[in-house]
Amino acid sequence: MDRARLMAMVETLGATFAGRGMRRHVEELRVYWLGLAKGLVPAGRRVDVGWSESLVVEWFRVLRLPPHQWDYPVRPPSSPCSRCPAPDGHAVEVKTGLTFPEGRKAVCTVCGYAWLEFDADVQPASVDVRRKAR
Ligand SMILES: [Zn+2]
Repeated sequence: MDRARLMAMVETLGATFAGRGMRRHVEELRVYWLGLAKGLVPAGRRVDVGWSESLVVEWFRVLRLPPHQWDYPVRPPSSPCSRCPAPDGHAVEVKTGLTFPEGRKAVCTVCGYAWLEFDADVQPASVDVRRKAR
């Protein structure tokens, strides 16, 4: 994507992190934004803050920010993989990708299928019921 669009996404993400009290992410993202603004990031070598376009998009998916709010389905906590069979009643292993204040991104270690799980006491207002039912 072009730099202006990426910077707009970084600004949206930074405001979202700030609103959720994710201070370390805000500080990292601020450095990344400055690198983008000054044209340092494309050169790559001198400004490595651990952020990239793909990570910005990933966080948009995890925090369900438009237009990526439906990229990952939302499933109940500790869900098994819905794509892999569970031989002998043992579900295949699921690992945690990213964590955020309300929950986590779960990833199947076998097929790589990913979804979001919110903590039991969290009822995000924008959860799509149709997706939750999967
Ligand atoms: Zn799987």
